Amino acid sequence: MYAGHFAAGLAIKARAPEAPTWGLLTAVGLLDILFGPFVLAGIERASLTPGIPPGFSLDFIDWSHSLVMSLVWAAGFGALFLGRGRRIAGIMGFAVFSHYLMDLPMHPPDMALWPGSATHLGLGLWRMLPTGWWFAELAVIAVLLTIYIRRARNDPSFGRHRWAVVFVVLLLHAINSPWLSAV
Ligand SMILES: [Zn+2]
Repeated sequence: MYAGHFAAGLAIKARAPEAPTWGLLTAVGLLDILFGPFVLAGIERASLTPGIPPGFSLDFIDWSHSLVMSLVWAAGFGALFLGRGRRIAGIMGFAVFSHYLMDLPMHPPDMALWPGSATHLGLGLWRMLPTGWWFAELAVIAVLLTIYIRRARNDPSFGRHRWAVVFVVLLLHAINSPWLSAV
């Protein structure tokens, strides 16, 4: 899941407009934001697998994407917002953990319970549906964007740039399509 995380951030924003947008968009992507430097630092590992969808293998992502660490990052990121009240902090924590929940059906079983755990979760739609996963994610994105658009339609103070925002999310998903990445 890639663009879908941002769609989740927008849907959460629609339910909690008082939560800062920049914080929500950082929260929903946080586990992937951590993954980058963790790979560079050598504490997580990924490799390319040309011909085997989705084209890469996440060999060790226990520090960014395990169940326990996702909860730790969610609690830690949420705590940064305690100054804005417990509700906002909770919403931020939920936004971080939404990443884990949305990755779960897509990833092959590479999401450990905790760092070093032998048990890995992941339904593996990326592998089971070499191109169909893209439509599955699109359906999720459509539902989430609908929640956002609905709020913008009923609330004049919300989502003034909604169509530009929707376009960017759909563009990100189009760029991430199996047909483009195969080129
Ligand atoms: Zn992820």
